[in-house]
Parts: sequence; structure tokens; C-alpha cells
Amino acid sequence: MGQLTGPTDPTADAHWEHNHPRKGFFTDTSICIGCKACEVACKEWNHNPQDGNLELLGSSYDNTGSLGASTWRHVAFIEQGQERIAEARESGRALVSLGMPRIGPPAPPSVADLADADTTPPDTADFRWLMSSDVCKHCTHAGCLDVCPTGALFRTEFGTVVVQDDVCNGCGTCVAGCPFGVIERRSNGTVKVAASREEQHAKHADVPNAGVAQKCTLCYDRLVADETPACAKACPTTSIKFGDHDDMVETAKERVATLHGQGMTEARLYGANENDGVGGTGSVFLLLDEPEVYGLPPDPRVPTADLPKMYRRAGMAVAGMAVAAAVAFLGGRE
Ligand code: SF4
Ligand code: SF4
Ligand code: SF4
Repeated sequence: MGQLTGPTDPTADAHWEHNHPRKGFFTDTSICIGCKACEVACKEWNHNPQDGNLELLGSSYDNTGSLGASTWRHVAFIEQGQERIAEARESGRALVSLGMPRIGPPAPPSVADLADADTTPPDTADFRWLMSSDVCKHCTHAGCLDVCPTGALFRTEFGTVVVQDDVCNGCGTCVAGCPFGVIERRSNGTVKVAASREEQHAKHADVPNAGVAQKCTLCYDRLVADETPACAKACPTTSIKFGDHDDMVETAKERVATLHGQGMTEARLYGANENDGVGGTGSVFLLLDEPEVYGLPPDPRVPTADLPKMYRRAGMAVAGMAVAAAVAFLGGRE
């Protein structure tokens, strides 16, 4: 385990000796049309089984609900009225005035470059859909990887986080370690304990990797062949962009500046701050409202960040007990 918090290069931290640039996604939700081609492409490429019976959830036009063991890309459909849109526009404007997310260093087109642009706020629509394709964040400090006791999760040479299915023992520690609720064990929908190995095998035969922790691999098998991840390749609007992580962050910042210049002050970045609780994420998002609206934690924090403090306190407690025991022993001899 390398550095536990703060900005770092996760690939170097994992002791990779060659110089692959870190890879990542920039998901621009402002141009997502909710077609779910990314979800389908991911399932096809990875042979992931169907989730549920594909009926609409009742709460929206979504039919998968959330990320899970068999849904490694999930497109959220969020319905909003005029009042919420105006609030999102105000909260986004306040974030940028506070410098969060930071716009710059200057890169065309920045807010300053757009000084002459028409910045009249657009009419606030009566209604809109927010559509956002969520995925594993491939965190700089990945809780899932840090807490895995078997080494089933590893950091690739591209800076991404991948599960080795044949090493995972299904203990589920990683599920509790992920601050985003991304990784999940694949179940076959029953808790009935199999009586024999044959029955166990029959029970799991149609469910690949049953019991094993599953999540997006950032298409590791495609990256090693110099191919674009399936979801990014299938996206018809380029809402999902894939490339070198630094370029993705720069492109995302420029896009926020452009949208703010057009009066869409609700635009803000998620995951691009390397000083956040996970050291920034490999998957960066442009959101049109607060993270909670999309089911994302506003201030994610890797659980191992507090380990040094905990060890220090435990050390002090042990030293204190040793001193107390010594005093009691010496006192008892007088
Ligand atoms: S989002 Fe969760 S599953 Fe993905 S790398 Fe981060 S901690 Fe691991
Ligand atoms: S990168 Fe690959 S595994 Fe990850 S969501 Fe996209 S298609 Fe699925
Ligand atoms: S494929 Fe692209 S446009 Fe379609 S839902 Fe996914 S991210 Fe949105």
C-alpha cells in the first residue's frame, strides 16, 4: 500500500516501472441523451447477465436503477422542474465564485476569453431530464483495493482498478470499502445453501462469477490491445470521452467554462479535485446539479485515510497501558 491520502500518481504508487499515462473517462452529462447504448455495450462486451426483468422502476423511465455486480455502467434518468433548475443554476454559480471547481489555468475557451460572449442566462425551462452515465470512479486512493485481504483487486499500469475473478474469495470487504457504493458481489438471487458441490455448480452454472465482487474494469482487456473501452466507443453523442487522465480533466474544465459562458451556471465538475477525500478520481464527471441529485456522495473519503492517525492513537494507548502496568507493578513491590 502506497500513499494513503492526497494527490499522487497511483501507477507510480503501485510501483509500475514503465510510463503509461494514467487513463480515465470524462463523462459530460450535459450531452447525454439517455439512450443507454453504453450500458448495453458494457454488458455485451463483458458478458454480464441481465439485471431484473427490464420493467420500468415506477420512479422514472429507468429500468436498471443503479450500478451493481452485473451493471457496470448505469444511466440515471432524473426529472426536474423549473424551481429545481433555478436552484441548481444558483448553486453552480456559487461554487465557481468560491473557486470550486477551479477553472484554469487559462485554456481556451476560459471564462475570461468568453467575456464578450452573450452570458444572458437562458430561459429556465419548465422541465428537464438529467441523464448521467455513472461508472466505477477508478479512484486515486481506492478503498476497495486498499481493504481487499486477498489481493484480488489490483492497480493496473493504466492507473485503473481491476478485480481478478479467480483470486476473489467473495468476502465482500471491498463492498464496505468503496465510498461510492460501486462494487458488489454477484448473487444468483437465492440464499439457499447448496448441499453438494454438484448442486452448487448447477445453481451457479448460468450465473458467471456468482459470489465474486464485480465492477467496471475500464475495459482492461481492451486497453492492453490499445482499444477504446466499449461504452465510450458506443456512445453516439461523445458524452463518454476516454483518454489520458490529465487531458480528460483539462477538457472537463474547459467544458464547464464554456457552459458557464453560455449562462448554464449549473455545470460543475465531480472527481477532478485531487485534494478531495479520494485524491481525485480516474472517472471525471460534468454534472448539472449537486452530486446528491445523481446519488453521488458530495464528499467521498477513502476509509483507509485515517489509518496513520488510528495507528498513532493505538500506539499511544499501548504505551499508556505499559506505563500504567509498570507503575502498578513497581508500586506493588514497595
Ligand atoms: S469507485 Fe469504489 S469500486 Fe471503483 S475504484 Fe473507487 S473504491 Fe473501488
Ligand atoms: S469501461 Fe468497459 S467495463 Fe467499464 S463500463 Fe465501460 S464498457 Fe463497461
Ligand atoms: S451512450 Fe452516451 S448518450 Fe447514450 S446513455 Fe450512454 S452516455 Fe448517454
